[in-house]
Amino acid sequence: MAIDFELPADLRDLQARIRAFIAAEIIPLERDPRCTPHGPTEDLKRALNDRARAAGLLSPHVAREYGGLALSHVGRAVAFEEAGYSPLGPVALNVAAPDEGNMHLLEAVATPAQKERWLRPLATATIRSCFCMTEPAPGSGSDPSMLATTATRDGDHFLINGGKWFITGADGAALAIVMANTEDAGATMFLSDMNAPGIVVERSMGSLDTCFPGGHGVVRFEDLRVPATDVLGEVGKGFEYAQVRLSPARLTHCMRWLGAARRAHDVAADYARKRTAFGKPIGEHEGVGFMLADNEMDLHMARLAIRHCAWVLDRGDLALHESSRTKVIVSEATWRVVDRCVQILGGQGVTDETIVARIFADLRAFRIYDGPSEVHRYSIAKRILRGRRGHEPDQH
Ligand SMILES: Cc1cc2nc3c(=O)[nH]c(=O)nc-3n(C[C@H](O)[C@H](O)[C@H](O)COP(=O)(O)OP(=O)(O)OC[C@H]3O[C@@H](n4cnc5c(N)ncnc54)[C@H](O)[C@@H]3O)c2cc1C
Repeated sequence: MAIDFELPADLRDLQARIRAFIAAEIIPLERDPRCTPHGPTEDLKRALNDRARAAGLLSPHVAREYGGLALSHVGRAVAFEEAGYSPLGPVALNVAAPDEGNMHLLEAVATPAQKERWLRPLATATIRSCFCMTEPAPGSGSDPSMLATTATRDGDHFLINGGKWFITGADGAALAIVMANTEDAGATMFLSDMNAPGIVVERSMGSLDTCFPGGHGVVRFEDLRVPATDVLGEVGKGFEYAQVRLSPARLTHCMRWLGAARRAHDVAADYARKRTAFGKPIGEHEGVGFMLADNEMDLHMARLAIRHCAWVLDRGDLALHESSRTKVIVSEATWRVVDRCVQILGGQGVTDETIVARIFADLRAFRIYDGPSEVHRYSIAKRILRGRRGHEPDQH
């Protein structure tokens, strides 16, 4: 069977539509004062979502019954890269983290009643959500098995107690998906209204990135009462569902950040063509030209790794190994690209004269969240030592 790198006509059409939409409707809003250190305000988010809705581009990943285009993972790779071209693009299309990953998880695991209550308003961008997993020491961070938040049975309810941090979007979210340990069955996911008594958003953490609505919150659960009907899936299957969410979710981060790195590269390449030093455009100095060439090679490698992993997911595989591999490749390649762009732009690279400094600051955390590079390398190495031969041509 031949390998076909050509995109189907409907995806090429979608790609062109999103590209034009981002250029005409979203990039002009990048300097809007409603872009704050803790992400776009709710008001700006609404305005962005309204534009995407009018263009027929809101939530393209969800099923048609929830108003989406039911995109495959390969389809998402194409669409989300285009959305990522602006720091506001993923929010506009309602494909930003953590809502996009949460919608994916709800589609896969939630009951019909839970979907009506939470997935439908998420898909229409009427509400936001957060995913509460990471805890301060001695709780779980890189090592999820250290989960310390507890869920104790109390009749037909659970009482949740514990603390989480780095919870993206917590401030202003309507829904929390909470990972907690039950005494008898272990890690379990719970759905909770963020306004329920027993949830306290203590504070927003200051952070390098500014692209996620609601910033990153420190959250405390004090006897949060959750009915057993609000368990997501089955009690004790929390880690199983985390894999259902994390593998595609870390890949969609790769897709969006690839778009962001491509934007930085376009800005830097334009500067390298126009700015002269020592008698010629700086791009014609080998030191700068080689940085542009390295950027293109990194962007290409990142895109190939993403599309391959998306193809594996579309075959119905969980793609745990492939998504780990791709996450390291893309988070590190895009980081190299954007860092070179800062250098090519000279002093402007670290100012807000161009979008590149903002992308640089937004991107840094991607080598840490959804698994630091070291943890993915650790997992990949463990599989290699167990005999996996992922480097061979017939082993995706
Ligand atoms: C911007 C941002 C957004 C986030 N959003 C969310 C969210 O919405 N919900 C949520 O639950 N969490 C979120 N997180 C948390 C994120 O998933 C964690 O930061 C990440 O899992 C690492 O955990 P930690 O910070 O506790 O690092 P630690 O576990 O303390 O690890 C620190 C460092 O130790 C090293 N390390 C750890 N294990 C190994 C190993 N096996 N081999 C080699 N080195 C190792 C790595 O370099 C790692 O960076 C977010 C984080 C950030 C920065």
